[in-house]
Amino acid sequence: MLRRTKIIATLGPSTDDPVMLDKIIQAGVDVVRLNFSHQTADIHQQRLDKVRQCATYGQSIGIMVDLQGPKIRTESFHEGKIVLNEGDKFTLDASCPKNAGNQHCVGITYKELPKDVQKGDNLLLDDGRIVLEVKKVVDSEIHCKTIVGGKLSNNKGINRQGGGLSAGALTSKDRADIITAAAMQVDYIAISFPRSAADIHEARKLLEAAKSKAGIIAKIERAEAITNHEEIIKAADAIMVARGDLGVEIGDANLPSAQKLLIKKARDFNKVVITATQMMESMIDNPIPTRAEVSDVANAVFDGTDAVMLSAETAAGKYPEKAVMAMDRICREAEKQPMARISKHRLERQFNRIDEAAAMAAMYTANHLNIAAIAALTESGATPLWMSRINSSIPIFALSRHRSTCSKVTLYRGVYPIEFEDIFSQVDALTANQIVVNELQRGGFITKGDLIIITKGDLKGISGGTNSIKIVCVGGECFQDNTDN
Ligand code: PGA
Ligand code: MN
Repeated sequence: MLRRTKIIATLGPSTDDPVMLDKIIQAGVDVVRLNFSHQTADIHQQRLDKVRQCATYGQSIGIMVDLQGPKIRTESFHEGKIVLNEGDKFTLDASCPKNAGNQHCVGITYKELPKDVQKGDNLLLDDGRIVLEVKKVVDSEIHCKTIVGGKLSNNKGINRQGGGLSAGALTSKDRADIITAAAMQVDYIAISFPRSAADIHEARKLLEAAKSKAGIIAKIERAEAITNHEEIIKAADAIMVARGDLGVEIGDANLPSAQKLLIKKARDFNKVVITATQMMESMIDNPIPTRAEVSDVANAVFDGTDAVMLSAETAAGKYPEKAVMAMDRICREAEKQPMARISKHRLERQFNRIDEAAAMAAMYTANHLNIAAIAALTESGATPLWMSRINSSIPIFALSRHRSTCSKVTLYRGVYPIEFEDIFSQVDALTANQIVVNELQRGGFITKGDLIIITKGDLKGISGGTNSIKIVCVGGECFQDNTDN
């Protein structure tokens, strides 16, 4: 059985050893994430080159660049770190020099922060490990009282509970990184901290200007992004439930319902959705996950996520391969549950497009007949995307002559890319079907006597042209139960 839920692994120092990189890829990584919050473009390029070398012949691996965005951070401490105790006074000071932090104050990367906050606000540092209450703002200084204390070291994130910070989504670094990512020919770019659809449109313009066809992933990690989630989902190709920052902004107790809402909405709008952050957190140091982590990954699968993501677990953890293996086995087991396979087929929906209607009809047929596999001949990947918005246990093979389409669909739940030479314009329809059957048989996905569905369009090279559904019997003779029941 093929795993339907996709695994994203963040690359970092722990995966720089080519042996380890190879191990995690063979353990089932579908998409790798290059986190542009750290390291230089050169290092990311080297990592990307290694991934492309590791992929076995014909294996597609999706590449995602994650932009840093306007993450607000503290500057550094003279001594590297301090300890804040409950009740301590502490000042965030926009005019404090970079390395001059001490027990009383520290600099901040976003100089406008004092204008955005007011008395009574709660500021959460280091993913909420430290909580400061704003007592007063004097020019560049935010005077606070420590509510929850702890160790505070250099360059830790700062969020305002409830959101409302004015920083735009794309910083000048992000704009430069979009050009770098376009040159690297990556499949996806993740935009950090978008507030609205306008931020996504702006990113899309920059990508288009850089001649990139990368899909845009909107990271939902700001309180405003929850308010504006529908327009953001519509503007993006995919969303990420970025639970790290989002949990800080909306409060951890609101995360589970936000996750369910976002996954459902993304699928309803025919968009892809990733569940991210702290999924296997304890595996940074331990070879097995906690029971709570096991449940978290399985529940994301039940919610309908396309992909689950590993961050520090693979990038900086001690057990990158074991973390991928754990996710792999948890997803496979969760996918056996009927709730992960059953579908309502959007029976109440009206479709505007022929190709979307064809994709839905194929899924209806597949789920109601004993179909072993679906083969979607696709230019852009749109047909398999629609198909994969329907819950099913039947594998959807995306056959495309475009390498970029093959690596893009690596993120779609239940979709498996097969890159192949397109010779359909030279052969008749029956021969074309036989070529598809041969291709799937060669991969060991189907055997004689299986029924498969093939969807395709009449015209080659036209994306969105899918208009036919063919039911084909592998080897010619299929058992038909003609008894009425
Ligand atoms: P990050 O985004 O890892 O880039 O912060 C994910 C999150 O906030 O959950
Ligand atoms: Mn984040």
